[in-house]
Amino acid sequence: MALEKFQLLPEVRDFLAKKRFGGVIGGQEVFASNGETFHTRDPGTGDVLAEVANMQPDDVDQAVQAAAKAFRQTNWPNLTAHERGAILHRWVDLVESKKRIIAQIESLDCGKIYRQAEADVQNFIDTMRYFIEMSLHIERRAVLAVPHYEAYSYRAPWGPCGFIFPWNFPILLVGWGIAPALAAGNTVVIKPAEDTPLSTLFVAHLAKEAGIPDGVVNVVPGLGEVTGAALARHPGLRRMSFTGSPEVGRLVGEACARNLVPVKLELGGKGAAVVFDDVDVSATVEKLVQAVTFHCGQVCCTATRWIIQKTIYDRFVSEAVKRLQEIRIGHELEPRVQMGPVVNEKQKKRILSYIERGRAEGAEVILEGGELELPELGGFFVKPALLAGSLKNVAAQEEIFGPVAYLTSFSDEADAIEKANDTEYGLANSVWTADLQRARRVAEAMEAANSWINAHNLFPHGVPYAGIKKSGLGGGVLSEQTYFDYLRSTSVVRPVS
Ligand code: NAD
Repeated sequence: MALEKFQLLPEVRDFLAKKRFGGVIGGQEVFASNGETFHTRDPGTGDVLAEVANMQPDDVDQAVQAAAKAFRQTNWPNLTAHERGAILHRWVDLVESKKRIIAQIESLDCGKIYRQAEADVQNFIDTMRYFIEMSLHIERRAVLAVPHYEAYSYRAPWGPCGFIFPWNFPILLVGWGIAPALAAGNTVVIKPAEDTPLSTLFVAHLAKEAGIPDGVVNVVPGLGEVTGAALARHPGLRRMSFTGSPEVGRLVGEACARNLVPVKLELGGKGAAVVFDDVDVSATVEKLVQAVTFHCGQVCCTATRWIIQKTIYDRFVSEAVKRLQEIRIGHELEPRVQMGPVVNEKQKKRILSYIERGRAEGAEVILEGGELELPELGGFFVKPALLAGSLKNVAAQEEIFGPVAYLTSFSDEADAIEKANDTEYGLANSVWTADLQRARRVAEAMEAANSWINAHNLFPHGVPYAGIKKSGLGGGVLSEQTYFDYLRSTSVVRPVS
């Protein structure tokens, strides 16, 4: 095994030595009812890390029932926010005490370079603490001043909530999803992506150790069309949240609509970076190179369309090519590596095929990219690529999810805005300029749920992060509004004479 070359923490070796992992239902480890399993691999070497239960529809049903029972029969939803917060804090403290272990498991399972995996675990911790703190301060009763009636609204948790997550930010997205739901008093059933279930299973076992009642946190690993589909169509859920591709998002949305279960969809993107000629070119190149190589470009909101003012276009391109050629690519646990592997063989082929299709439709290939063979490792590696030309090109319109940027130039502000908005997606864009008035005008004119100024990929807690158009529906994450999404409202009215 190529993986043996790497220094794993003893706790990570012990964890992986278990070899077979079940789901977590009602506080117990449970295997699939038909015994089916699937493999999860280290993308850096291609080695199998573990065999994981492929939970079947009847297992998913058991998990939803366990979540419903915990909601009805434990005191979880009726604890005061302080009591529930104290238990959740114990869980988060445990996660923090094992941060390096979880980060190494995460790094190996999704191929993310270690320091970024550690930042993702820290983000999980910060998100949990953010929503626990919020739950202490939010008033659930609001008096409604209307003539002839005494009236108020009262908010209560919904019950069992379902979550389906993708493989690019496993532990971070679990935090963004379940933290507001749990802090509000709901119970959860999580379906992690089949490529990356291990960190979620690890923290779910810590939930029990922290004293969270059995059945409050359930995990059903498995394949999308089996386990994910069974969860999406389960009528016992009170809310559903899906993060992933628009194609699967539509299926999940349809299944939830049939049961009238409210659903939140956080989907893909094709982010633009609009760069005016008054910027520091080298510094901006550096930031955009970091953005497009961050987690090997497998980031929903990252800058993949670079829209550059004509006057600096040639200089921008030549500096970008130079910087991208310097990126050190290798195994995610190698400390000097700047860009790791992509998640699997399928993703590698998808990226290579988009470059070919883009070229076939007339894109100029400025930097070839393509497959990178590292025989001593195995694994799934690609090199960064730059394409350029008309935005009416498949590589400029569709989400590639790899280290590939598509460049085009613009003449003036109106042209830049038109080009930034020439997409079906509406997740996140950025504008780069020294003129703050212009920055705000462009930020507001770009049709997406997030606009960043002189930076890309910003997610402070307290600022809503969502998607519009093909990038999402029904809410968003990371803000007070997200917390309210996990509380239903009842109006209480009494006539007074
Ligand atoms: P995907 O849609 O293929 O899979 C996401 C999840 O859905 C996985 O757990 C998968 O098993 C499950 N799934 C697959 N088929 C299903 C079905 N028929 N029914 C129910 N569930 C099913 O996405 P992916 O390839 O894992 O992730 C990449 C996508 O996620 C990209 O489009 C990316 O932009 C998007 N994403 C969006 C955000 C955001 O916050 N907007 C964040 C991260 C990733």
